[in-house]
Amino acid sequence: MGRFFRAVKAGFESMGEAPVGDRFVVAGKAVSCAHCAHVRVVEGRALLNTAGMSFLNLDWANRSAATLTCTACGRIEWFLADPEEA
Ligand SMILES: [Zn+2]
Repeated sequence: MGRFFRAVKAGFESMGEAPVGDRFVVAGKAVSCAHCAHVRVVEGRALLNTAGMSFLNLDWANRSAATLTCTACGRIEWFLADPEEA
């Protein structure tokens, strides 16, 4: 197998590994998955729809939300507050 194909194969193998995740705290409370109670999640950010924010009277909030994705079951929790790494 050539170098190129080994590199491609290594790339696919590293993509296939599920992230372990980290523990987070929001509003002084440790985050655990509402579905499976797992405590390790991966942080991400998602933009909120501006028209939706106005409709919900959330113009005061950031236009982006933090997402915490459970590394066990994949459930995504949304937070307007920034989660702190625990
Ligand atoms: Zn979960």
